Amino acid sequence: MLVDLDDDLGNAIAQAVINEYRRPSKLGNKLLHNFRNARPKDTETTVLAGLVSIESNNRPIDQTKRQKVGKTPRLEVLVVCTGMKVMPASRVEHSQGRLVHDLHAEILCLRLFNWLVLQEMNAIRENSVSNLLIREHGTEKFKFKHDSQFALYISEVPCGDASTENLRDSFADQTIWHSLEETGGTLRGRNGLSRLGSVRTKPGRKDSPVSYSKSCSDKLCLKQFTSMLSSLVYDLVDDPPYLSFLVLPKQKINQTAIKRCFCDRIKMPPELSSYYHPLKVLASDLPCPFTGSTPSNLSILYCPPRSYIQVLNKGVRNGCPAKKSIQYQHQSDVSREKLAELALRLTPHKFKDYNELKNCASVSACKKLAREAIGHWGKGSEDNFLLNHE
Ligand SMILES: [Zn+2]
Repeated sequence: MLVDLDDDLGNAIAQAVINEYRRPSKLGNKLLHNFRNARPKDTETTVLAGLVSIESNNRPIDQTKRQKVGKTPRLEVLVVCTGMKVMPASRVEHSQGRLVHDLHAEILCLRLFNWLVLQEMNAIRENSVSNLLIREHGTEKFKFKHDSQFALYISEVPCGDASTENLRDSFADQTIWHSLEETGGTLRGRNGLSRLGSVRTKPGRKDSPVSYSKSCSDKLCLKQFTSMLSSLVYDLVDDPPYLSFLVLPKQKINQTAIKRCFCDRIKMPPELSSYYHPLKVLASDLPCPFTGSTPSNLSILYCPPRSYIQVLNKGVRNGCPAKKSIQYQHQSDVSREKLAELALRLTPHKFKDYNELKNCASVSACKKLAREAIGHWGKGSEDNFLLNHE
């Protein structure tokens, strides 16, 4: 685990994402209009995140040496997302896989990346060419085409353990640190800020309904073991890709917290060590593009390679009713049900329901071990549903 505050690659990655956010290059007029309307107003704020592939065709990236901008390899922005909301557990449990409960920008980026990968796989299946993937000869599996590395830029330090000290320093009333209220066995959001290295749920206001969704720090920490791919996609790919870099705002990086969150707190058993792909944290000193303070309700999901955008509000498509039972056509394309539909077209296996599909995934044993190694993970929301095999 390394933190490098002086590598110019961090600024180049952040700049690529911010440019694509400010001037989306792959959207026609109508979609561009939707995109602009979904950006926060002057009085509002949100978090911006973007996933970038770094093609190292000409020169292998040497992680031990500093890089100057002039030598930066080719960057391609794959997904750009905004958002800072989370939906309560009570809504997840009735959603039948149709609610996107975690709307934090960095987690949406990973969901949208999995959607992109599944779209590309389905395109290959229908004899189209993909820029991202090829089909392996002699197997049914897919492989990433280029020897790329992947970087995730986030305009804020991820919620949870990596930003605990930042949050603590921001409170005038220091007694707030000491509440140790738990949610489903996990330390709740902003409670017990003196407890460092703990798995936490997503932060919310004290009076907000309970969510079991884990903090972005915890989810990104887990991805060091389970790759960027979700369980559904993992088994369709040879050599699943891992995140190499996390790019964060320089002035908010607390090196002790970052090292603890992504490395020091992990009690790694020997059988897990071969799965561990440590992140390297790079810094950006570019200003955040938001000016206000009221959290925006909207989340943008933008995928430049597919000229695709979807806007979400309260976990469903913007403009659709966010009731307990969500209609099929009102859900996001990155909901559990929609992603499972795409994945099922690509596998000969049949599964009774979503839980069975997840439990059969080869990464599930590694995920269980990694959760135990990171800390007390606690319960998640129950969101099982029957799968429809076409
Ligand atoms: Zn978060």
